[in-house]
Amino acid sequence: MTTCRNALTVDLEDWYHICGTGRTGDVSTWDAYESRVTRNTAKILSLLREHRARATFFVLGYIAGREPELIADIAKEGHEIATHGHYHRRVFEMSEEEFAEDVDRSLEAISSAGGGRVIGYRAPEWSIRPHTMWALRVLRRRGIRYDSSMVPLTRMGDRSFPTAPCRIPTEDGEILEFPLTTVRCFGEHLPFTGGLPLRLMPYFYVLSRIRRMNAGGDAAMVYVHPWEFDLEQPRIELPRSRRIMHYFNLRSTPGKLSGLLVNLRFAPLREVLGVGH
Ligand SMILES: [Zn+2]
Repeated sequence: MTTCRNALTVDLEDWYHICGTGRTGDVSTWDAYESRVTRNTAKILSLLREHRARATFFVLGYIAGREPELIADIAKEGHEIATHGHYHRRVFEMSEEEFAEDVDRSLEAISSAGGGRVIGYRAPEWSIRPHTMWALRVLRRRGIRYDSSMVPLTRMGDRSFPTAPCRIPTEDGEILEFPLTTVRCFGEHLPFTGGLPLRLMPYFYVLSRIRRMNAGGDAAMVYVHPWEFDLEQPRIELPRSRRIMHYFNLRSTPGKLSGLLVNLRFAPLREVLGVGH
């Protein structure tokens, strides 16, 4: 086992929090949907307890408002509570003012739920883009010390984005960035440590890549969602690419996470970055 600690993160949202879809994108319908997030998160919490691992939970403010006990329970187990915004809106779909309002609302909901002081943010669907870098200033102004939303990919974030943790200056002081972990392959950066990429990649490939990173002193960042632990969730009509992103090979996530927890060292993101203490 290596001594390098990797960041373990959970994007705490429910089965209907899918960006860019018609019906479930309408916030006014959300209260009517069955809530499955508490029982799905319980599966993740039990795995973490079993392996004595702690993680960062990027909590959707809407969930903190709807299920405050869940947030308090997660915090009580020693995990870090950070924010995933309030209404799961992509940053590039909001104005600076709307983004600020969404973050404020999430921080209020998390604080009322007993989530403690929040210093980390992750954008829904990794939606920071070169033209929305103002988001980092908005976050820093609210006491957020790190962001974990940048993806160095051509199709999602931007190829120019960092591939390793770094400091980014804003008018209100610097913010730390922990970007999506990728591996260089055929001139592209390929993700492999969470979501669909983790479900697609063979487990031993993922483990050996992270081990190789750790041997070189670099931390990886792993991410999962509670709905990836729920084979019975209601299926939403989605375009093909989104259907694959959300439902393909869901049964592989618990086993893969469990294996990584046995073989690697993990910590909440703020501890890996060394901030907030
Ligand atoms: Zn999300």
